[in-house]
Amino acid sequence: MPTDKERRCFSHIRAFMAGTREGMVAISPDRTVRMLNETAADMLQVTRGETVGSTASTLGVPELTHGIEEALTEKDVVRGTFERRNRCYSFTITPYEDGAATGSVLTLRDDTEILAATKRSEAILLSTSDGIIVFDADDRVTFVNPAAETVLGRGAEELVGLVTDTWTVFGLSANPDGPVKETGTQTREVRMEEPKHRIVDVRVDPVFDDRHTYLGSVCTIRDVTAEREAMQMKNEFVSTVSHELRTPLTSIKGYIDLILDGEAGEINEIQQEFLSIVKENSDRLVELINDMLDISRIESGRIVLKVQPLDIAERIVGAVNTFKAVTDQQGRTIHVNLAEGLPKAAGDPDRVGQVLINLISNAIKYSPEGGDVHVSARVEDSKVRVGVTDEGIGIAPEDQARLFTKFYRVDSSLTREIGGTGLGLSICKSIIELLGGEVGVESKQGAGSTFWFTLPLASERHVRTPSLEGPLGTPGGRILVVDDCEDVANLIGTYLSRRGYEVVKAFNATEAWELALEFEPRVITLDVMVDQGAGFGLLEHLKADPRTRDIPVVVLSIICDEGRSERCGCTGYLEKPIDKNRLVSVIDGLVGSIASPVVLVTDDDRNIVELLTRTLKQRGYAVMAAYDGREAMAAVARTRPDAILLDIRMPVMDGYEVLEALKANPETADIPVVIMSAYQLDSDRSGILDLATQRIGKPFDVEDFITHIEEVITESEPQTDVSGEDTP
Ligand code: ADP
Repeated sequence: MPTDKERRCFSHIRAFMAGTREGMVAISPDRTVRMLNETAADMLQVTRGETVGSTASTLGVPELTHGIEEALTEKDVVRGTFERRNRCYSFTITPYEDGAATGSVLTLRDDTEILAATKRSEAILLSTSDGIIVFDADDRVTFVNPAAETVLGRGAEELVGLVTDTWTVFGLSANPDGPVKETGTQTREVRMEEPKHRIVDVRVDPVFDDRHTYLGSVCTIRDVTAEREAMQMKNEFVSTVSHELRTPLTSIKGYIDLILDGEAGEINEIQQEFLSIVKENSDRLVELINDMLDISRIESGRIVLKVQPLDIAERIVGAVNTFKAVTDQQGRTIHVNLAEGLPKAAGDPDRVGQVLINLISNAIKYSPEGGDVHVSARVEDSKVRVGVTDEGIGIAPEDQARLFTKFYRVDSSLTREIGGTGLGLSICKSIIELLGGEVGVESKQGAGSTFWFTLPLASERHVRTPSLEGPLGTPGGRILVVDDCEDVANLIGTYLSRRGYEVVKAFNATEAWELALEFEPRVITLDVMVDQGAGFGLLEHLKADPRTRDIPVVVLSIICDEGRSERCGCTGYLEKPIDKNRLVSVIDGLVGSIASPVVLVTDDDRNIVELLTRTLKQRGYAVMAAYDGREAMAAVARTRPDAILLDIRMPVMDGYEVLEALKANPETADIPVVIMSAYQLDSDRSGILDLATQRIGKPFDVEDFITHIEEVITESEPQTDVSGEDTP
C-alpha cells in the first residue's frame, strides 16, 4: 500500500503529466507501459486501457519499440522521429534507475508545424539563384545553399561547422572596419578565378532578434559576371562607334566651315541659311557623341582625371568668357561673385571647366525669356562650393531628384522645343563625384534654379607634374630662352622641355635681363638679333655683372658672327635653323647635373618621396619625383632615368602596370627598377614583379636603401673596364 506521502507524490506527477503539451509515457524495466498521459494517448490514438500494463508494442509505433529497447540496453538517451497520420513527431527516451533495474521515460512532441515551416524556408533558400551562407553568433557556418556551393566551388559538408570571417571564405582579408555585428551591412565586389572566372557582389548583413541580441550574419552572393561583361561590351561598342562617327563628322564640319567662309566661292543667302542649319546640327551631333564617349568612359572606369590644385576663380572666368558672344547677343549678363581669398580646390581643371560650361549653358538654355546668370564660389564646410543661378523656367520638386540620371529630361512643351539629350547633368554628377565632391539643385518652378557642386580643397598631396631636381638643390635645368620670334622660342622651349629642362622665355633684351636675375638660369640661349641687334649688348652686360657672369650663354644666330659673339663672352654658338640634336647636346654639355645619374622616385606617400629625394640628392643624384604610375610614365617619357624606385600600391596606375609598360617598351625595358612595397603582393600578379631588378620591403633603412640603388645603377652601367671576363 502506498503511504500518504507516496500518494501525494503520485498525484503531483499525474497533475504534471496532464498539464504538459508533450506526450509522456513511463516504461517499466520489463518493457510494459506503466503510465501514459492524455497528450500521448491522443498523439498515438490509443487508450490507457489498451496499453497500461501491456508491452510497449501496444503503443503501435515500431520506432518507439526499438528506441525503448535500445535505451534500456545501452542505458543512454535515444532520440528520433516518426510519422503518424501525416503528422511528424519527435521523441526522446531517457533511461532511469528503478531500484536494481532500469526503466525509461518517453516524451513525444508534435513537430509538424515547425518542420513544415523549416522545410518551407529551406526550400526557399535552396532554390534561390543567389548564394547564401548563414553564420551563427560565433562566426560558425551553419548553412550553405547550392548556389553558394557553386560559386565557391566547395560543398556544404566542407563549409558547415567552419569558424571563419565571411571575407576569408572568398580569399580576402577581413573587413578593416571590423566585424559586421558592429559595422552593419558590408558589401564588396569580389573577383574569383577558382573554380572559374566570376565577378560576384557579396553582401553581409548582421541578424538581430527583437531584443537586439546578435544572432549571426547572412552572406548573400550574386553572380554579376554576365552583367559586368555585357556592360563592358556595351561601353566598348559605344566608344568604338562614337570614335568612328567622329572621323567623318570632322570633315563634314570642316568643309561646311570652309564653304560658309566663302572658300568655295560666293554663296547666296539661302545657301548660307541652309548651310548654317547643317552646321548647327553637325555641332549638336558632335556634342552628343562627345557626351556618349564621356558616359562610356565614366561607366567603364576608363576616365582619366588629372587631379591637381585648381584655381576655381580662373576656371569660372574662363567658362564665363566662352559664353560672351552669346550673352552679348541676347543682352544678358553673367555675374561672377567670388569670395575673397578663395583657396585652391583639388580637381581636374579641364573636367571642372566642362562641368561649369555645362551648368552655365543650361542656365542660359532654360531661361528662354532672357535673364541674367550668377556664378558664385565660396568655401563651405572645408569644401569649395560653386553655384550657377538662373532666372529661368525652374524645375518641379518631383523632377529635381531625377535630373542627374542619364537621359532624363523634364517633359514639357518648353523643354521639348529647347532640345537636348539629358546626358549633361549626369556627366557632371559623375565627374564631380569622382573628384570627391557633390552636386545638387535648388529650384522652384517658374522661378529659376541654382545648380551647385562642391570640390575638396587642395591638399599637400595634390602635386604637380614631376620636374627634374638636380644635386645642387636648385632645379636641375632651368634654361632661359631669349628670342624675339615667339614661334622660334616655343620651338626651342619644346625641344628643351622634352629633354627634361624647365624653360623660361624672354622676347626682348630688357625682359631677358630681368628674368636672368630673377631665375638664375643654368644656361641662356640668346638670339643676338633680338631687339634689332641688342643681343650683343645684353651678352656684354651679362658677362660684366658678377650676378650673371657665370651663366653660360649659347648664341643662336642666322648671321655668321661667331667671332663677335665669342669676343662678347659667349660659351657656345649655334647657327639657325637650329638642329635639335646639336642644341640638346650643347646644353647637356653645359649643364653638369644632367650628367649625374637620374633616379625617378615613385610613391603616393609624399613623406617617402621627400625623404628619398633629399637623401639621393645629398649623394649627388638628380631626382625626379612622381606620385602615381601615370606621372611616372610621363616623367620617363621626358627624361630617361638611370633607375626607378617604384611603389606597388598607387592610385591611377599601380606599380604592376608601370612595370609591365616599362618592360614592354624596348626603349625603357633595360632601366633598372627597384620595387618598394609594404604590402603583401597580389599572388596572381607577382610574376610581373620578376621583371624588377630588386625588391625592398617597407619600412626600410635609408642607408641600406641607398646602397641598393648604388648597386643597381653601377651594375646597369656599360662596363668600360674589361677584366678578362665577358660581361653580357
Ligand atoms: P539636356 O539639357 O541636354 O536635356 P541635361 O542633363 O543638361 O540635359 O539636363 C537635364 C534636364 O534638366 C533638362 O532636360 C532640363 O529639363 C533640366 N534642366 C537642366 N538645367 C536646367 C535649368 N537651369 N533650369 C531648368 N531646367 C533645367
